[in-house]
Amino acid sequence: MAQLPWANWNGTAMPLADVRVSVLDRGFLFGDGIYEVLRVYGGRPFLLSEHMARLRRSLNEIQIQSDVDRLEARMHATLRDSGIDGGMVYMQITRGEAPRTHRFPNPPATPNELIYVDAIAVDPYAAWRENGAKLLTVPDVRWRRCDIKSVNLLANCLAAQAAAEAGCQEALLVTADGTITEGSHTSIFAVQGGRILATPLGPQILPGITRGLVVKLAARAGIEIEERSAKLAELDSLDEMFLTGTTSEVLPVTQVDGRPIGNGRPGPVTAKLVATYGEYVRDWLAGRGE
Ligand code: PLP
Repeated sequence: MAQLPWANWNGTAMPLADVRVSVLDRGFLFGDGIYEVLRVYGGRPFLLSEHMARLRRSLNEIQIQSDVDRLEARMHATLRDSGIDGGMVYMQITRGEAPRTHRFPNPPATPNELIYVDAIAVDPYAAWRENGAKLLTVPDVRWRRCDIKSVNLLANCLAAQAAAEAGCQEALLVTADGTITEGSHTSIFAVQGGRILATPLGPQILPGITRGLVVKLAARAGIEIEERSAKLAELDSLDEMFLTGTTSEVLPVTQVDGRPIGNGRPGPVTAKLVATYGEYVRDWLAGRGE
């Protein structure tokens, strides 16, 4: 078993603790980089092609030239060498090290490519999966390209901190016109009259990979999905709310700003999706899935 977290830094395998990066790295100076997080079950990365497609898109959107196939090969080697069974993969690519100027370096710098893997032993969200998570509404002050999985996460960090200080598990980001977008690190869904409301994809949210799977699983289960954002003013009319994410999977939400959602207990549509998600992972692990 390698020393965890186990990393690959620009092609060299090493413990994450030994990775050193220049202070002139543009990720450090400007947040000029992108990242990706994958869940690992049974030693294998889950929803691999979807995550790699999003990584490729993020790189293209900010014009960083990195070889995604090579990154994927390194990720597999890092996972194999780590000996991890259940865990996660973090990948980050920045524009590289260059003298500090806002415009891109010319000639281009060599991107800095970090991959690390770590174990997740037990479900860290088990208690909230059972009882539901509490959310705090926070103004969504992010930029207008939230569809890019950029390492610029200051607004997300401030929102997550405000939520934690209020004793909540996640922030619920709300735009100036009262539209609910997503969480600080999760996608948000509502349930109203038996039908799921999903925030439409667009520049205002990250296209969550778990969101995509849950939409597919809900359709398969015959649950109607409406692609529209819930409004803050509608909270009292919602029967359920749940959030999704690579590490959170599917989590019921039972309170927002101290007020109950529905009857204040995890609801049946969410429970169905938690179960369906678990079955999908088990089938995939057994080689029966897609
Ligand atoms: N929305 C934001 C802002 C996120 O940071 C994340 C994950 O980090 C998600 C949604 C969930 O995306 P995924 O399901 O791909 O993990």
